[in-house]
Amino acid sequence: MPYNITMKKINLANYNKADLIDFFTDLGEKPFRGTQILKWIHQQRVTDFAAMTNLSAALREKLPHSAEIIFPEIVKEQVSQDGTRKFLFQLQDGNQVETVYIPEPDRGTLCVSSQVGCALGCKFCATATLGFTRNLTVAEIVGQLWRLKSKLLITNVVLMGMGEPLLNFDNVVAAMDLMLDDNAYGLSKYRVTLSTSGIVPKMQLLREVSEVSLAVSLHAPNDELRNKIMPVNKKYPLQELMTACKYYFKDPRRMVTFEYVMLAGVNDSKEQARQLVKLLQGVRCKINLLRFNSFPGCNWQSSSEEVLDAFRQILLKAGINTITRKTRGSDIAAACGQLAGEKGKS
Ligand code: SF4
Repeated sequence: MPYNITMKKINLANYNKADLIDFFTDLGEKPFRGTQILKWIHQQRVTDFAAMTNLSAALREKLPHSAEIIFPEIVKEQVSQDGTRKFLFQLQDGNQVETVYIPEPDRGTLCVSSQVGCALGCKFCATATLGFTRNLTVAEIVGQLWRLKSKLLITNVVLMGMGEPLLNFDNVVAAMDLMLDDNAYGLSKYRVTLSTSGIVPKMQLLREVSEVSLAVSLHAPNDELRNKIMPVNKKYPLQELMTACKYYFKDPRRMVTFEYVMLAGVNDSKEQARQLVKLLQGVRCKINLLRFNSFPGCNWQSSSEEVLDAFRQILLKAGINTITRKTRGSDIAAACGQLAGEKGKS
């Protein structure tokens, strides 16, 4: 009886080098085909198998029947007065995510999303208002870099956009493998940073499988306050988080970066700065103090410059390397905590 089967093609943009080697070995090909195609996809930016001239003619003819190479599309770009750019990516199922590019004189940082929305509900974050829709695939995560690498100077990548990367662990790790792979993007482990709200068991797993840099969204010096502004703290309280941070890097010279957003009258008092000093005792770290960027529906304000400076001085006096970060891209809602997309889903 005649019948039609539409076979779903495998998107090779979802595969890191190990996956590609397995894929070609299963096809009866030599493992080096995996490395060849990795270079075509991520270095040459070629998605048409017919143009991959060092593959055999038979393989070029065979691949399109079972495989494809698809990345998300950019559907909108906004440029801030300070040069920060925000890109809206359209995913195949109609969902959308945002990516931010921050140019500086000596570097260009791409802030990449890992989920559509986020389930964690941090009170200072616009993404939280979307709720959680789904995890991004490897192609959707690394695709943000793939699309923009040809038009921007990208020296650093931070997984600090929409979503909690450690709750999309396998796809994020595979995407970071590609970022670090010399046959793909070749970024150094010091220039790829994963930022987490503190999913402790996943941090312990990550240190075993990836050498990327680590940032932790801290934002409060005690459990009582952190429970209120970051509900994830009820599951992984500060003591557990600090222990995970203390032992995170195997190389004792590497440091965890803590992000601390300065909320007027909430977490910015001198007493809270002293609590923070105590909390961080014994953790090799630096702190980024961030000015708060408001978003519709949020009543909090950023701390004043005086309060921010007094807070910083207490940390510095205690010997903690503390940087006050400039706000970038707030006029196009591209600053930290402002990413909410045009809409959660089209
Ligand atoms: S700050 Fe990060 S973890 Fe918290 S809600 Fe926003 S995206 Fe999620």
